[in-house]
Order: sequence, then structure tokens, then C-alpha cells
Amino acid sequence: MFPVKKVIITCGFHVKGHQWMSGRHQGYDFGAPVGTDVFAIADGEVIGVNIWGKAFGQFSPVIKHGKVFPRYVIYAHVRMTTVKAGDKVKKGQKIAEVGVEGNSGGPHVHVEGQKTRFWTMNGGTRLNYLFKA
Ligand SMILES: [Zn+2]
Repeated sequence: MFPVKKVIITCGFHVKGHQWMSGRHQGYDFGAPVGTDVFAIADGEVIGVNIWGKAFGQFSPVIKHGKVFPRYVIYAHVRMTTVKAGDKVKKGQKIAEVGVEGNSGGPHVHVEGQKTRFWTMNGGTRLNYLFKA
């Protein structure tokens, strides 16, 4: 499922741009007003909060989703989170609220999946199958 109720993708996956270190957008931006509820896109386990660097904002949880192909997904630029490391989350559970923390040009949640637990520059992976499930 999608991380917000009203889906407006303001920047898609692999869009080119010099503002990103790898030259391409590694995730998906969902534009929404500050304070909008952010939901887990699948069942998972919280790996940590604020573990992928300041650019993503200090309240951003990283959640391990998926069984066959685990994906580590950050919900970035949020103004707060309701979860902490070790928490199990259910698909559709509220986990955060949209904010403008970190490097963010406006209110949105940046949802990015990595194959590994730690962020790598070109490690961004497609999440469409999770959004549509
Ligand atoms: Zn983004």
C-alpha cells in the first residue's frame, strides 16, 4: 500500500537531478501537508530511527519490509515518528507524520528502499510491488 491516503507523487524513482549525490532520485516523494499521517507500506520490523544520515531528517524510521527479498525502507523528512528500533509494524499502521526535516524543499515523505541495512549511494531499489500490494 501507499504511505499516505491521498497519493500525489511529486518526484518518482530514478528521476535525474544534480541535487542528489548519485545523480538520480533513489526513492519516491509523496507530497502532503505537514502533519499528514504516514503509514507502513507493508508488515515489517523497525531497524532504527535517524540511522541513514541527517539529510533524511532526525525522526525518520527505517523499516525492514518483505520476506523473500527484504527491503530496508526509510520514511524520510517526517516531523515525528510513533515507532522505535525493534518494533514490529503492520501494513497500514501509522508510523509518522509528514514534515520538512533534513534536506527537504517542502512538505513530503520520501520513501526509499535499499537492499541492505545501511544506505549506499546507488542502492535505491524499486518499491512499486509493495505500493501495489
Ligand atoms: Zn525524495
